[in-house]
Amino acid sequence: MPITLLKTAAANLKKAVPLMLKYKIPTTPTNYALWYAYVGEQNPALNQELDQAIKQNQSYSPITSELLFRKHVSDPAEVDVRSMRQNLDAMIVELSQSLKDTNADTQVFQDNIDKDFSKLSELETSGFSLDQIIAVVRNIVKESSNIRSSTVSFTEQLLKAQTEIETLKNRLAESEKDVLFDSLTNVLNRRAFDDDFDSMIAHQQLPCSLIMIDIDHFKNFNDTFGHQLGDLVLKTVAKRVQEACRDGAKLYRIGGEEFAIISPNCPLRVARQLAEGIRRAVEKLSVKDRRSDKVIDSITASFGVYEAKPKESVAQVISAADKLLYEAKRLGRNRVMPIAN
Ligand code: GH3
Ligand code: MG
Ligand code: MG
Repeated sequence: MPITLLKTAAANLKKAVPLMLKYKIPTTPTNYALWYAYVGEQNPALNQELDQAIKQNQSYSPITSELLFRKHVSDPAEVDVRSMRQNLDAMIVELSQSLKDTNADTQVFQDNIDKDFSKLSELETSGFSLDQIIAVVRNIVKESSNIRSSTVSFTEQLLKAQTEIETLKNRLAESEKDVLFDSLTNVLNRRAFDDDFDSMIAHQQLPCSLIMIDIDHFKNFNDTFGHQLGDLVLKTVAKRVQEACRDGAKLYRIGGEEFAIISPNCPLRVARQLAEGIRRAVEKLSVKDRRSDKVIDSITASFGVYEAKPKESVAQVISAADKLLYEAKRLGRNRVMPIAN
C-alpha cells in the first residue's frame, strides 16, 4: 500500500477512534467504517446525519448505524476489499499505538494483533474471501473493544486518582489543623493567634479586646516537681481557661506558659470581668504530683487586658497588653491589670 494512503488512513483512524470512545459508539465494523468516513469528510450528507445522531445520542442504535452505512457508505457485501485491507492496516497501526499509550496489557494486544496481521498476509497470498476478511475484522473489533474496556479502566484509574487526591486534600486539611493547634494543650497555637489577630485588626472589627496571660512562677513547678508535672499544670490551666471562654472569645497558647485570649465585640470593661473570672478559676485549680503524691494548689496567673483603639497596629495592641501584664507581675502577680477602667 502506498505510504501516503496508509498515513491518511492512520490519521483518520487516529481521529475516529477517540470520537467513537467519546460518544460511546460500539466498535463494530460498520461503525468503524462510518466513523472512518466521517473524519475523512468526504461525504457531507453522512457527516450531517451522524452529527444529528450524536446530538440525539439515544437514537444512536446499531440500526441507525446500519442504515447510515447502507445509505452513505456502501452495501457491506460490496466493500472494496483493497480499501478494507488498507483500513485494517491503518487500524492495526493506530489501535496498537493508542493501546501502547493507555494500557498496560500492550503485550497481549500486540501479540493478538500480530496474529491477525499474519493471518491477513496468509489470506492475501492464498487468495481470500470476504467471509475470511470479515472474520479477521471481527477479531480486531473484539480486540479493539478490549481497548475500549481498557480505556474504561483507565478512566476508572483516573477516578480513583481523583478520590486519592480528595483524600490527600482532606489529610492536608487535617494536618492544617495540626498546624493551628498546640499539641500539648490542644488549644490554638501562636500561628493561629497571629493569623486571627492580624485579620481582626486589619478589618478593624472593633471593639475587640486582648487578654495576655502568664502563669506565675511557673519555673518553680518544673524545678520542684519536674517537667512532666509542669506539663500537667499547663494542660490543666489551658483546659480551665478554655472552659471559661465565652461569647466568641478564643484561647491561644502563644508561648511556654503564656496564653492569649482574643475577645471580639468586647470592650475593656467586659474583658476585664472575663479575665477576673478566669483569674479566680485558675487560683482554685490543683494538680496532684503522682511521684510525691503531693497536691499542688498554688497555681496562679497574671493578666494584662487591653482594648484595641481604632487604627492601632497589631504590634501596638500586643505591646500595650504586654505592658499591663508586666505591671501585674510587678505589683505582686495573681492579678488583672488595669485595676479598673
Ligand atoms: P513569672 O511569674 O515571672 O512569669 O515567672 P515564671 O517562672 O513563670 O517565668 P519564666 O519565664 O522565668 O519561666 C517560664 C518557664 O516555663 C521556663 C520554661 O522552662 C518553662 N516552660 C516553657 N515551656 C514549657 C513546657 O512546654 N513545659 C514545661 N513543663 N515547661 C515549660
Ligand atoms: Mg513567661
Ligand atoms: Mg510565667
